[in-house]
Amino acid sequence: MQLTSEKLRAVVKELEEAVIEHQRWLHAWHRSLIFDLPLNEVCFSRHSYRQCRFGQWYRGLPSAVLSRHPGFTAIDQHHRKLHESAYTLAAKIECGKIITIGDYENLIENERNFSKAVLDFKEELLKTLFEFDPLTDILNRQAFIRILDGELARLSRTDESCCICMVDLDHFKAINDTHGHLAGDRVLRVTAQYLNHKIRPYDSICRYGGEEFLICLPNTDLERAKHIMNRLRTGLASLNIDVDEECSLNVTASFGITKMVIDISIEGHIARADEAMYAAKQGGRDRVVVYEEMSLSLNHEKQA
Ligand code: GH3
Ligand code: MG
Ligand code: MG
Repeated sequence: MQLTSEKLRAVVKELEEAVIEHQRWLHAWHRSLIFDLPLNEVCFSRHSYRQCRFGQWYRGLPSAVLSRHPGFTAIDQHHRKLHESAYTLAAKIECGKIITIGDYENLIENERNFSKAVLDFKEELLKTLFEFDPLTDILNRQAFIRILDGELARLSRTDESCCICMVDLDHFKAINDTHGHLAGDRVLRVTAQYLNHKIRPYDSICRYGGEEFLICLPNTDLERAKHIMNRLRTGLASLNIDVDEECSLNVTASFGITKMVIDISIEGHIARADEAMYAAKQGGRDRVVVYEEMSLSLNHEKQA
């Protein structure tokens, strides 16, 4: 599953709260030092970066998804550094050593860097809020293309396999015509969220167009992609979608998969996935077609 804008907003709010908690931690640390009070475990421990409220909150975040944001690892590094300098100072005091102005300035500098990293990360998250499709709350096409660009660049450095898949709802127009546009909207939202929940943390999904979705499956070969997509297909077909109090609907979708290769553009890959999806429609809908198998069977037909 990738994050929704709703989850991102929650992370931003928690980040703000965690930072306030962190200021309280630093305040307790200063007070203990200035007034010669005993330092509690969270203030004076080698592992205080894990024990403080910020550290605990950070460790509970969905790191597989958030690590796409550079700021996510940066806040952890600055947070550790801050705790390390606080620990070093407290340890010096404990053994009766004198702390220098330089030691103290180092701590303040680390605190400033941490606060700056938090602000940067918050800004990064707020910017990504614009990358979501408002109806379905999954990524929009532009944000997804940037992810595919990254995957294509990664392919040229590694020999990993990455697949992309086009998903198009079957006879969706009939849902609008029979149950109304609002019911259609609800079906789109539920379908998008269903697919989003079923993909793995490092997969991505976007709303490509009206009732079309694109899924990126990094580190996945065609066989595995086919298996995953068939699981999504059957799961979606058996999902009951309540469109109002009395009516529940079932939808199916056609899936087209292709494997990314470095000498083909993003647009070229999307066209291939689309072609495979179109073949799935022609084959009777509610099925998965692999582009590479499709061209193979065409070659066989030509040779015969
Ligand atoms: P097929 O099985 O061949 O894909 O048939 P289909 O009816 O799904 O395909 P078609 O392209 O004819 O219809 C897609 C419909 O999706 C038409 C359009 O009105 C509807 N649609 C596109 N965007 C939205 C939207 O945001 N909300 C709703 N409710 N409908 C939408
Ligand atoms: Mg369509
Ligand atoms: Mg359709």
